[in-house]
Amino acid sequence: MKKEIIKKKIKPQLAKSSKATRAKKYVYFFGKGQADGTADMKNLLGGKGANLAEMTNLRIPVPAGFTITTEGCTYYYQNKQTYPKELTKQVDAALVRVEKIMGRNYGDTNDPLLLSVRSGARRSMPGMMETVLNLGLTTKTISGLIKRTGNERFVYDAYRRLLMMYADVVMEKAAGIEPTDGEGIRQKLERAMDLMKEKKGVHQDTDLTSDDLKILCEKFKQIIKTTLKKEFPDDPYEQLWGGIGAVFHSWVGKRAVSYRKIEGIPEDWGTAVNVQAMVFGNTGDTSATGVAFTRNPATGEDIFYGEWLPNAQGEDVVAGIRTPNPVNKAGKTSDTEHLSALEEMMPDLYNQLFKIQKRLERHYTDMQDIEFTIEEGKLWMLQTRTGKRNGQAAIRMAVEMARSKLISKETALLRVNPEQIDELLHPSVDPEAEKRAVELVKGLPAGPGGAIGRIVFTADDAQAWAKQGEKVILVRNETSPEDVHGMHAAEAILTARGGMTSHAALVARGWGKCCIVGANALDIDAQNKIIRANSKVLHEGDWITLNGSRGRVFEGQLKLLPADPANNPWYLELMKWADQNRKLKIRTNADRPEDSKIARTFGAEGIGLCRTEHMFFQAERIRSVREMILSDTLEGREKALVKLLPMQKDDFIGIFKAMEGLPVTIRLLDPPLHEFLPKTDAELHELSLEMGVPFEQLKTKNESLHEFNPMLGHRGCRLGITYPEIYEMQVQAIMEAACELTQKKVKVIPEIMIPLVGHVNELESMRRLTIQTAEAVQKKNKVKVNYLVGTMIELPRACVTSDEIATQADFYSFGTNDLTQTVYGFSRDDSGRFLPYYQEHHILKDDPFITIDIEGVGAFMEIAVEKGRKVKKNLKIGICGEHGGEPRSVEFCHHLHLDYVSCSPFRVPIARLAAAQAAIKERMEKNKKKKK
Ligand code: ADP
Ligand code: MG
Ligand code: MG
Repeated sequence: MKKEIIKKKIKPQLAKSSKATRAKKYVYFFGKGQADGTADMKNLLGGKGANLAEMTNLRIPVPAGFTITTEGCTYYYQNKQTYPKELTKQVDAALVRVEKIMGRNYGDTNDPLLLSVRSGARRSMPGMMETVLNLGLTTKTISGLIKRTGNERFVYDAYRRLLMMYADVVMEKAAGIEPTDGEGIRQKLERAMDLMKEKKGVHQDTDLTSDDLKILCEKFKQIIKTTLKKEFPDDPYEQLWGGIGAVFHSWVGKRAVSYRKIEGIPEDWGTAVNVQAMVFGNTGDTSATGVAFTRNPATGEDIFYGEWLPNAQGEDVVAGIRTPNPVNKAGKTSDTEHLSALEEMMPDLYNQLFKIQKRLERHYTDMQDIEFTIEEGKLWMLQTRTGKRNGQAAIRMAVEMARSKLISKETALLRVNPEQIDELLHPSVDPEAEKRAVELVKGLPAGPGGAIGRIVFTADDAQAWAKQGEKVILVRNETSPEDVHGMHAAEAILTARGGMTSHAALVARGWGKCCIVGANALDIDAQNKIIRANSKVLHEGDWITLNGSRGRVFEGQLKLLPADPANNPWYLELMKWADQNRKLKIRTNADRPEDSKIARTFGAEGIGLCRTEHMFFQAERIRSVREMILSDTLEGREKALVKLLPMQKDDFIGIFKAMEGLPVTIRLLDPPLHEFLPKTDAELHELSLEMGVPFEQLKTKNESLHEFNPMLGHRGCRLGITYPEIYEMQVQAIMEAACELTQKKVKVIPEIMIPLVGHVNELESMRRLTIQTAEAVQKKNKVKVNYLVGTMIELPRACVTSDEIATQADFYSFGTNDLTQTVYGFSRDDSGRFLPYYQEHHILKDDPFITIDIEGVGAFMEIAVEKGRKVKKNLKIGICGEHGGEPRSVEFCHHLHLDYVSCSPFRVPIARLAAAQAAIKERMEKNKKKKK
């Protein structure tokens, strides 16, 4: 009985599935108002194919054609580069439909249909994908096309284009031939064409006559044969399948593979192939071709914007063979004023195009990048896709589209990539100037924006030159804390070594300063004050330009475009909407009043991390700091601390003032000791005079302080516990500053933070010391200040014992840099040696020092939050450190229900937007679940 039931069940299933394989659809037709596909089938049809289908369904004029699916491509690669057997039949059937619509047949010698073959992956992959136009032109069909059009010149123009594209794409690239530089078939043919133009004394290809082109085509065929040892195929079907195969092949081409790696596009996506009836923009002056954007992609302005060329085909417009004309009067610049706009030359067609682009933008509710061709007075659309844009434009478009109700405010907020905001906050290298500039060397884009300056090699020189009013760029192999004054004085920093988390990168990011690190090809000879790069030699004082957003270094002074966010109404509006949507508060990491002020203008709602050791590095102070560290006695240390106290107090007064009314978290000293120790005998000599301690004795002491692993050494609260007088001095400075300002009616909210706590007893002891000192200062000054004492959570032990630690803390702040080091056991400063390799070989997807490792480090954070809030329901918790300004980490912090994230000043707006996006996404998810 049972068996029978099973049998019954299996039978129809088998039948169904075998039927399904037989009917597998690899070809999707589009044409004359009807398409098998739609815009949301990008995975199957690729972006181009899906949108051609969508436009067809919208009854926008699109030449008929069909798309071979990405599954066809994956099949091809899974089956030793063979096509599925049903493919040819499906292609033939679709081709018949195209022929019917267009009223002519492929390969017909009297009136041939011509085809284009175009690639199209799910995501656009510029530069790697191939297109072949005018397929179907053979010695036999040429005469038919001439007869029909009566335009011999056009036919040979189309033919020479076919020869060039086919030879390049199908016969060379897809065949895996790798010619030496300049010897590719395309370049050879281009040279032949240039020669012809020269011989005829003309400048533009449109000036070549039909006879010229005829001769040129013969020449092309000869060159193809001698170079590639093969005849150009004279059979239309061989051409068509050659084109289709070449597109599939381009998917595993060198360029495509490396591009996919960079962009993280999986190999198994495959590409689709679009086969489409040709329409011709090159039949004469009533024909044209062009590309356009529904809004200006550089500024975001809501003006239809584009370029066109009369009597042209394919990519002539973007290839720069002729200077293209603006599509309309509004798009004219002083450079293009004299050129005629499509709006002026063909006003009716322009109006049609204008209406279509408006419709497309409304339909897709985003800025579209479109391609069109006009054949003998008829307009055809060849492509639409969501257009790429820079940060400035992204923000303006999003805001204006939301204002005009094309999209919601939430969508507007989600549409801007938080990182794009960065572009608005820094001056940038003019992209036009960059195109023409000579690149010296490439490095990692560590600090955004652009900068120009003269080369200097030492921090002291940087400072000295800057004092003279010179703009300088500090060029070094790497930087250390002692270079900070020079780094600050410089317009930008360029290093030959180091990664995105190197000292130079961290410091520069903190200041929002332009910086490029790890420019390995840069050869720095600091002794002789010269650098070599790209076979050029530059000297001290020579001008260079850095594009820190892209990691490119140029010779000379390129034009910079200024940053002016405070006067950018769209940015301000978007930020206002972001603030209305986010739950997280945003604070900043700042050690100096100037940085605090900048951060406030960027919207910071307090300081989440004020590092006090940075204050110790300035030249006059470091000596006192060293004196303190190297003293053997309490008196010695106290003597040094007395000198530091007034300076520290001044620092805090400055910061409290800049942050009036907002909370300021001050972390007590947490120096990796070695950063402070004198490094040269000269420095030790100087110190020995000052301290009145013999040189040798000092030297021995200095050596004895050497640690094997300073990162896990005598630092943080361990220092405060063994030398309580240091923290005592700092708390005294903080509280004296706070009392003084409170007396002057300046509202201050200090939050004193104890670093590197692993055990509750450490915190308990330091908390007691802090409160004792703070109370004493208040009593003496007869003022009451509201202050908190909390701790940094940066050790795994602190996370898992958070229920104990919370009893001693008014607040927590995750120090995710150290927490990542200690959870992972990676030293941040040494991870550059293996992390890039890890990422390249897919051991790790992301650098955990850049984005929080949610599964590992994040899990510890989760435990800390849960256990801490179980003991103290309203425990205030935030995060400081580099992750606080990184969008994915911000999203994670939102989900952890932290109170705030804190990041460097220039990342505050980025964090504001990222926090809003996290909140919106969460709301959307919840609504989706509710609906279900
Ligand atoms: P890309 O992905 O590089 O934009 P396309 O497949 O869009 O490549 O092709 C490049 C250009 O070739 C198009 O902009 C268009 O001008 C031209 N082209 C493609 N197909 C056709 C066609 N069926 N008729 C006329 N021109 C075409
Ligand atoms: Mg292309
Ligand atoms: Mg295109």
